[in-house]
Amino acid sequence: DLTVHTQSHNYPIVITENTAIESNSMASQVASYITGQQVLIVTNETIAPIYLKALQQPLEAQFTVQVCVLPDGEQYKTQSSINQIYDVLMAAHFNRDVTLIALGGGVIGDMTGFAAASFMRGVNFIQIPTTLLSQVDSSVGGKTGINHPQGKNMIGAFWQPQMVLADMSTLKTLPARELSAGLAEVVKYALIMDAEFLLWLEHNLPAMLALDLAILGEAVKRCCQYKADVVAQDERESGVRALLNFGHTFGHVIETHEGYGNWLHGEAIAAGMVQAAELSQKIGWLTSDDVARVKRILSLANLPITPPPIEVQTAFDLMGHDKKVKHGQIRLILLKSLGEAVLTNDFDPHLLTDVLAKHA
Ligand code: NAD
Ligand code: ZN
Repeated sequence: DLTVHTQSHNYPIVITENTAIESNSMASQVASYITGQQVLIVTNETIAPIYLKALQQPLEAQFTVQVCVLPDGEQYKTQSSINQIYDVLMAAHFNRDVTLIALGGGVIGDMTGFAAASFMRGVNFIQIPTTLLSQVDSSVGGKTGINHPQGKNMIGAFWQPQMVLADMSTLKTLPARELSAGLAEVVKYALIMDAEFLLWLEHNLPAMLALDLAILGEAVKRCCQYKADVVAQDERESGVRALLNFGHTFGHVIETHEGYGNWLHGEAIAAGMVQAAELSQKIGWLTSDDVARVKRILSLANLPITPPPIEVQTAFDLMGHDKKVKHGQIRLILLKSLGEAVLTNDFDPHLLTDVLAKHA
């Protein structure tokens, strides 16, 4: 198993191919990380009918279990959902000994983590990510939070889980479009850290799309290893962790312009990574073959490789709200080569304009 090393504690990421529904495997794997008698499972209306019973029933033999089923969707990643979680905790008279379990994708994971960080000044929680995106990205690293009406992920806390259980069999019920969105983040790791992993993906992506759980598990393991390494070096994102935002400044423009939900996050990131690669080529770091390779792997994953038309000035304005703008100068994560990323503002701004204008 993998271990994430942070200032607060070390915790394992367990990656399995268990059949989450047919066996009690999820419950037995998390049980030993539950310290007290009280458990609150947080999930949503889509996931509950599929996976809740298999987790809840066996845990009830050992613990006092409460459940909070939230509505499904990014638009519910709000303070009012957090209050619903607190309401269940208070009504059950749960205290500092409680362990919260997030059963779901990144939305449920981020909210459950934030509720755990804030309830009684911080209680334990466990992540059971059920989307590829949450398995390779959001469940690891301790960023938790909710949206504010005026900005995504504006309220939150760094709060690490006691463990992460990634059960590959949950991906069998994930909509294909969500699987592809998760693949965008998988490709991201290859592009920023490991050219050999890119080769591996070019070979194994068809098997991943065909839900070969062993291959998916191998990919999740590699991604979690990269993320764990980065988080161990830079838990609070003051340095190297920022590289994980490759493609995200461009992607953020697409997401905001198109309205959240119309483009999935991973889809926007895919098109955004192509734009970042195109700029890297204009600077002279990537070759046109490199850029073609980026486009090919993303297309293979059924992801978009061109952004929707957006006016250049609009794009600049939207970038201005991004966290990576310092003193009016846009800093971007770009590729020195395939497998090596840098955070830089050392480029001619006209080249950025050219990239944005290509799709305006
Ligand atoms: P999501 O949680 O909305 O899940 C996507 C959809 O799939 C939802 O409709 C969900 O109900 C459904 N679903 C989940 N698992 C399923 C399964 N096994 N079978 C069938 N349906 C299933 O989206 P996501 O892509 O997992 O996460 C996106 C969120 O993650 C965003 O809010 C984003 O801000 C956050 N995020 C956080 C971090 C972090 O470091 N904390 C990193 C990246 C993204
Ligand atoms: Zn992302």
